[in-house]
Amino acid sequence: MAQKRYLFTPGPTPVPPQVLAALSEPVLHHRAPDFRIVYERVLGRLQEVHRTSGDVLLFTCSGTGAFESAIVNLCSPGERVLAVSAGQFGERWAAMARAYGCEVEELRYEWGETPSAADLARKLAELEPVSLVFLVHSETSTGVVCDLQSLVAAAKGAGALVLVDAVSSLGAVPLETDDWGLDVVVAGSQKALMTPPGLATVAVSAAAWELAARATLPRYYFDWERTRKAQAKLDSAFTPAVSLVVALDVALGLLLEEGLDAACARHARLGRACRAGIKAMGLELFSPDEERSAVVTAAYMPDGLDSTALTRILRDRHGITIAAGQGELKERIFRIGHIGWFDEFDIATALSAVELVLGELGAPIERGFSATRALEVYAEGAPV
Ligand SMILES: *Cc1c(COP(=O)(O)O)cnc(C)c1O
Repeated sequence: MAQKRYLFTPGPTPVPPQVLAALSEPVLHHRAPDFRIVYERVLGRLQEVHRTSGDVLLFTCSGTGAFESAIVNLCSPGERVLAVSAGQFGERWAAMARAYGCEVEELRYEWGETPSAADLARKLAELEPVSLVFLVHSETSTGVVCDLQSLVAAAKGAGALVLVDAVSSLGAVPLETDDWGLDVVVAGSQKALMTPPGLATVAVSAAAWELAARATLPRYYFDWERTRKAQAKLDSAFTPAVSLVVALDVALGLLLEEGLDAACARHARLGRACRAGIKAMGLELFSPDEERSAVVTAAYMPDGLDSTALTRILRDRHGITIAAGQGELKERIFRIGHIGWFDEFDIATALSAVELVLGELGAPIERGFSATRALEVYAEGAPV
């Protein structure tokens, strides 16, 4: 019998059966009336999830592609941008803007640090004006979720627009595109949106449209204006991944049925439970021990052990996929994702398996407490 598989990574994430079932339906034609009905509903649901009455553009690409669309639509050669980075993704966006010939300033932190609004305000005051600030809401490589609202206020105070990577946070952690004045918000289908990889979204504010109208970097597939016009007629500019759009419609329906607030509260509880379980094992957290850190929990490996051994044994022997670290943290930490279609028993399973394998590898960990503690903390609800 094929081994049962468990996906406990912060992307891709597990997909609910209703969404998988939608993927098995016959392929629709993207200009046929039955697809237009789905397309219109998805675009409406995306506005609800992004919390905006403005445009949300839907692209067939990964999250990185959607971020690239923002750079090519908003920047001109030599554009002065400031990238705030404290991990893999923040650094990626700085490198990407450089590749496009932007003049990139960086507010760079050690991986695992939490960017602060005061640092950002100071940095912006030192620099000549920058037109655009890049922020990563949930830095998936470290488990840090920043205080987005305060960082946005600092950027706006200096007259810059903000481009937010919300790929792993949208649908998991509160995010208010309109109310917080976010100019561009990028997300992807394969994280909290409970859909397989392949679609990405970009919410665009009125101010961002104005900047895009003046920007001169070349663009074609990712030309926002072309996609906006096509979406307005429900006649997509190019062939979208139609089956993924049908699946995303179902997934967004599930998310909105649960309610965004309820989904965010569930993620906070999952994060709380996972951290409690890690600590009950006697391990040290790498990601912050705070409520906001509700996307992925990262922990240090016990002394002398390498997380690639842990992830390999979990995968090969138990069919369980968790994530090692990225970049310089690769072997030193492991990460358990808990975004999207996740419940407390997924957390208990992940923790039990980690405990089992670490024990086999000879780590001096406390056995038998972690899953129980996680379930208790989940049941307790929010601390007062
Ligand atoms: C997953 C992720 C991305 C995008 O990755 P793709 O592989 O291009 O979809 C970007 N930013 C963050 C924070 C992510 O977690």
